[in-house]
Parts: sequence; C-alpha cells; structure tokens
Amino acid sequence: MQMSTRAVFLDRDGVINRKAPEGQYITRWEEMELLPGVVHAIQQFGKAGFKIVVVTNQRCVAKGLLTPAELEELHRRLTELLASHGAVIDAIYYCPHEKSDGCSCRKPAPGMLLVAAREHGISLKESWMVGDSPSDLQAGKSAGCKTALVTTHQQSEVGTGISISSEADLVGESLLEVTQQILCLSK
Ligand SMILES: [Mg+2]
Ligand SMILES: [Zn+2]
Repeated sequence: MQMSTRAVFLDRDGVINRKAPEGQYITRWEEMELLPGVVHAIQQFGKAGFKIVVVTNQRCVAKGLLTPAELEELHRRLTELLASHGAVIDAIYYCPHEKSDGCSCRKPAPGMLLVAAREHGISLKESWMVGDSPSDLQAGKSAGCKTALVTTHQQSEVGTGISISSEADLVGESLLEVTQQILCLSK
C-alpha cells in the first residue's frame, strides 16, 4: 500500500452534477446533469496524480425513493460517462441513511473519508475535500483534509455564502476554478 497517495474527495450533488431542487433527489439517470468544467477538472486531478473519490449523502435511499442497487447503477453510469471522456473516478462512497439514524458515514461525520483512506491507502492530510455545503467542509476537516468550497449554488441563498466561505481553505465558483487553485498549491 502506498501511503503517499493524495486524493480529492468530491461531493456529488452541486459539485459534479446539478443539484435537485430543495427537498428533491436525483433518482433517475435522466436527472443527472453534469456541471460545466467537471470533466476537465477531474482529468486535471488525474494527471496530477490525485485519486478521485466521491463521497455523497443519499438519504433518498432511507426514504425509499430508490434502492441501493438503483443508486449504484446511477453511479456506475456516471463513472462510465466520465471515464469515456478520460475523467477517472476511483471510487464512490454513499451514505444511504436518514439524519436520525446516527450513522458514522453521513456528512458532516468523516466516516466515508476514513473508510476510503483505509481502503485506498490515502494520506488524508495531503488530500482535499471539495463540497458546496458546510457539512462537506466539516467532514473534510474532521478527517484531517484541506477543504475547498464551490459556491455556485450558494449565491442565491442569502447569508450562507459568506459564513461558510470563511471555514474553507479556499473558495471558487465551480469545481474547475477550485481545481486550478488546488493544483497551484500542490506543485
Ligand atoms: Mg452538495
Ligand atoms: Zn450513513
């Protein structure tokens, strides 16, 4: 196991694909819309030697809106689509639980990052968590990673942008913008 492997942990909804409206969930492939620049961003991380690990809360599973097998099929298709453009995702971890289940995987808990680090020999302190919500930043910090905030979807939500921006090590308006900053710092 290589202990120096660096990773970028990516949140899914709002970072890789367009988020469903508040209170709704992506349950069908037709609803999975990649955000601009995502393919290029993931390609760039791959070239720089970062593993790409997606960590996503999907309580739609606990709510019975889709089965684990259906979610995994969505993720298989997402991985395949990106790979066909040379953007490699190494692994996807999801939390299927409800908030009230008290699991250790639902962000802001760092469980998914810790398991991924163990399974892929990732050095957490050399890795980044990129997300669009405070719970992503919290999970990244708790795991010992550096954190980056993608603000695209916060801009219309009054107040949240500024208060959570201050918790992140860096901030950008898209995954691609954040990627360029991370790669500058990682040279
Ligand atoms: Mg998100
Ligand atoms: Zn969980």
